[in-house]
Amino acid sequence: MNANAETLSVTNNKDFSIAHLGHGSLRITVNNKVIQVDPYSEIADYSKQPKADLVLITHDHYDHFDKKALDQVVTSSTKFITSKSVAQQLAKPNITTLENGQSTEWNGIKIAAVPAYNIKHKKPDNSPFHPKGYGNGYVLTINNKNVYIAGDTEDIPEMANLANIDIAFLPKNLPYTMDDEMFVKAAKSFKPKELHPYHYSEVNTDALTKQFDATGIVFKKLPIEK
Ligand code: ZN
Ligand code: ZN
Repeated sequence: MNANAETLSVTNNKDFSIAHLGHGSLRITVNNKVIQVDPYSEIADYSKQPKADLVLITHDHYDHFDKKALDQVVTSSTKFITSKSVAQQLAKPNITTLENGQSTEWNGIKIAAVPAYNIKHKKPDNSPFHPKGYGNGYVLTINNKNVYIAGDTEDIPEMANLANIDIAFLPKNLPYTMDDEMFVKAAKSFKPKELHPYHYSEVNTDALTKQFDATGIVFKKLPIEK
């Protein structure tokens, strides 16, 4: 097994674990409660996934807001925390809508919505793939650990305001999110203890690991759970 693919301590803890299911989809388990983040049926078989107590959705693009995955993983008691545009399209009860800067609490977990947007990468009509204020990143405070799930974003200045992030998931693919240089710059602006790429097409783990030498940031690619 490649040393860089080893899971970090948090993923081995029975009370708190995070699995990368592929692309922008994560599953967080806290004290037997299951949080499915941006479930996407193209990358995982959600009929085999544990049912969600909470679904967290960053924005309404098809790879983050996928009704097929939701149908498979949601029960009548599942709670949703989503961006405004997702809430408007999600015909479900139990939705809390968060805009950038707002926060809520669920089962003792603080969940704060933070900005996620493009500055550089735009559509041919010059509008950004992700306009400011349209989608959310989330910071979850779980068992005193701060977990940052960035959503589809570039290295935006607001990242420098993130404090004490223990675990960060940053996207790394073009044209929608960040190239390697932006990814490195983004992480260095808030210095998470552990940094994981997600929402990527490829990752040059050795080259990126070198970029974080002597920064105090531990860069690791989580294995995709099969
Ligand atoms: Zn997107
Ligand atoms: Zn995306």
